[in-house]
Amino acid sequence: MTAIEDEVQRRRTFAIISHPDAGKTTLTEKLLLFGGAIQLAGAVKARGEVRRARSDWMKVEQERGISVASSVMSYEYAGRAFNLLDTPGHEDFSEDTYRTLTAVDSAVMVIDAAKGIEEQTRKLFEVCRLRDVPIITFINKLDREGQDPFDLLDEIEQTLALDVTPASWPIGMGRDFLGCYDLFNDRLALMAKGAKGSLPTPGERCEGLDDPKLDKMLPADAVAKLRGDVEMVRGLCPAFDAEAYRAGTMTPVFFGSAVNNFGVRELLEGVAHLAPSPRPQPTTTRDIQPTEDKVTGFVFKIQANMDPKHRDRIAFVRLCSGPFRRGMKLFHVRTGKQMNMHNPVMFLARERELAEEAFAGDIMGVPNHGQLRIGDTLSEGENLRVTGIPSFAPEMLQKVRPKDPLRAKHLGRALQQIAEEGAARVFKPIMGADWIVGVVGPLQFEVLADRIRTEFDVPVLFESTALYTARWVTAEDPLVLKKFLDGNQASLAEDHDGDPVFLARNAWHLDRAAEDFPLIVFHKTKEQA
Ligand code: GDP
Repeated sequence: MTAIEDEVQRRRTFAIISHPDAGKTTLTEKLLLFGGAIQLAGAVKARGEVRRARSDWMKVEQERGISVASSVMSYEYAGRAFNLLDTPGHEDFSEDTYRTLTAVDSAVMVIDAAKGIEEQTRKLFEVCRLRDVPIITFINKLDREGQDPFDLLDEIEQTLALDVTPASWPIGMGRDFLGCYDLFNDRLALMAKGAKGSLPTPGERCEGLDDPKLDKMLPADAVAKLRGDVEMVRGLCPAFDAEAYRAGTMTPVFFGSAVNNFGVRELLEGVAHLAPSPRPQPTTTRDIQPTEDKVTGFVFKIQANMDPKHRDRIAFVRLCSGPFRRGMKLFHVRTGKQMNMHNPVMFLARERELAEEAFAGDIMGVPNHGQLRIGDTLSEGENLRVTGIPSFAPEMLQKVRPKDPLRAKHLGRALQQIAEEGAARVFKPIMGADWIVGVVGPLQFEVLADRIRTEFDVPVLFESTALYTARWVTAEDPLVLKKFLDGNQASLAEDHDGDPVFLARNAWHLDRAAEDFPLIVFHKTKEQA
């Protein structure tokens, strides 16, 4: 195996998807604990309340005030290098959350045992499904009374149309939760009470479920139930099939309790051994193999500076092939320009600050002044464009105006920047003075209002509109397009690139326009330029 192959094969780039409160933060901390990255674990918790939080190990962060610490968490475990990408799922829920999932090779889905599949889990799952991202499920909070494990498996299978297969099986639940039997490795792991701070032991190796050891270690009724349950679940669920898992059609299910650090080791082993290493990346011309020795990568997220004095942004680049070395110049395919990779923040598993090389699957944070946009490809000169980075249909549209009418121009500039980042869609109606902003989640409006106020010093008001949806309009024949545009001025707007957008008042309005102009194509999303 070459050095590049070796580096690629040991990488696991993944994200955790869950509904708020299912235990993602807790689980992340515990995963980092195993990886010896404990010093970072505190940073995870801080994320939600203040993104401004500084950590002293990252120079860029200090100099530019951009908090990138919790966006990518890298750690090593058992010879594997893990990149855990954060999918903000709370206050700052946005398209970034979705797009982050285009930069991972697999995902861990955390489910609260009492609540089952919740709204946001389902939404994020659907995004994973678009790319057939393999999913390992972790059912959390077994130390509390929850739903019956059989019902939970059934719910996952029914709601998400996935084959499920248990990787472990819980023994009891709530106050009677004793531990889990690892069905993949035949180990019995019991939960040590009051051992929150320490790493749990790997458990006791057993010779299958008939091993008399089990009778010694567990109360008789618990053993009997475990044997009965496992026999039943093995009859009901298909055996684990690595190919089906990697194709995204089957999920292995682990049970545990993140807060008690229980089941986390098994989950981590699961990611280490089952989850795929970086996959080939489709482009407009060919598939990039992760082991190629020329660098390619794409921007999947832009994070703006939280410090209003600086206008810098960090573009998060997922490497598709490598090795990338600090100080390299890369070719920015969209503009055709060479870009100097000044001080990229490299999230590497070992000795962060000294890290000089990165490979497929790794993430780099590239400070820039707005040249880099979501979906952009970087290469060593080859003219190719990574495909498959979705642009999401803005489902919610609101009017935005400055509280101080004299700040309208500033607002315009702020909105242009936000649109270029891909953080929201921005439309300027042909008639009327207000801007329209389109987002995918309602909380995004609050986040945007806060950003525009703090970064651009423009207090703004968002107001609901009577608009139903936005559609980018195109036509093969420019004359047809012109006729449509001329006839629909009152419902037209331009996006930040000046492309025409039809703003429909309701479904009927949209249908009517489509009927009247059959040669016009109405696009829900705009492909990333
Ligand atoms: P997130 O919103 O998904 O990041 O969830 P958090 O990790 O912040 O957890 C939400 C709440 O659930 C917190 O109060 C945690 O302490 C709690 N929690 C997390 N894991 C467990 C668990 O295994 N058992 C119990 N009982 N509570 C848990």
